[in-house]
Amino acid sequence: MRRVGALVIALVLLSLIPVFGSVSATQTNLSGYTICVDAGHGGTDPGAVANGVEEKNINLAIALKVAKLLEEDGAKVVLTRDGDYFVTLSDRVKIANSAGCDIFISIHANAASDTSASGFEVYHYYGSAKGNLLATYVDEEIAKEIPLKNRGVKEAGFYVLKYTSMPAILIETGFVTNSYDVSIITNESYQWRYAYAILYGVQRYFGVPVHDPVPTVTDIRFAQHNGYFRVVLDMSQKADYSTFYYYYGYYIVVEIPNAKLADLGWSSDGTWQYTGTGSETVPYIYATEYNGTVYIVLELNTPYLDYNAFTLSNPHRIVIDVYG
Ligand code: ZN
Repeated sequence: MRRVGALVIALVLLSLIPVFGSVSATQTNLSGYTICVDAGHGGTDPGAVANGVEEKNINLAIALKVAKLLEEDGAKVVLTRDGDYFVTLSDRVKIANSAGCDIFISIHANAASDTSASGFEVYHYYGSAKGNLLATYVDEEIAKEIPLKNRGVKEAGFYVLKYTSMPAILIETGFVTNSYDVSIITNESYQWRYAYAILYGVQRYFGVPVHDPVPTVTDIRFAQHNGYFRVVLDMSQKADYSTFYYYYGYYIVVEIPNAKLADLGWSSDGTWQYTGTGSETVPYIYATEYNGTVYIVLELNTPYLDYNAFTLSNPHRIVIDVYG
């Protein structure tokens, strides 16, 4: 057993970490921005109703996905509603204005008596140059992601566009009165495509390179099973990774480039987070993030124990099974 001084040995692993220069001052994500996401209608107000769907539910489903991606990219998100309840238009505006949001994004779906009317469009307030810029970027990005007619950027005097004190847009994602549009806007994977498109449009608006949010290791769980010790890395989204033995086979290292590590609530020496597992097979697990790469280190009781690393696609997880 080498448990005494295990942390000291783990610090040797710091030699894994190449030293680079200081990070660039250029903003690379949405951290520092506060973004209001407004799911139209709700509760007693269903919005447009047709083809067996209520607009309020589509708006909320997309708005929550938008909020998740914006937060994963570092933004602070203020939702005017996060469930199926009624919020007045003036309360929506108050929420956005009192939170000092930098931009306001309202999500709606359209309706028309002509059931052939189809497509998405993005509104801003009359004459708002910043609103027009944001609307244009979001409209262009939706056009890349969503197989619906692009009805373009338009001006309107909608209450939430008029009275919010920040650049504001209102997205009509599609027509609930058109059955093809409904097949798109109620589809979970297309709802995610809307959310990514809105994220990309917002990134362009703030001059941030267009990119998907950096995958984050949000939790590390482990358990001793009969014949193997399993470690599960919960990721905010799918990430590439590699594994290798280190230090005469006493460590298995999982290296995840372009990723972040959440606070695991473990012990910490300021460089590594670490925890004792109570397992004979893998007595300690260490985790750190350095220059955009996450290192997860499993300390083995016996060197070169067989292991198997694999991913589960939904939810995104990296699993390491160590046999011994
Ligand atoms: Zn609406």
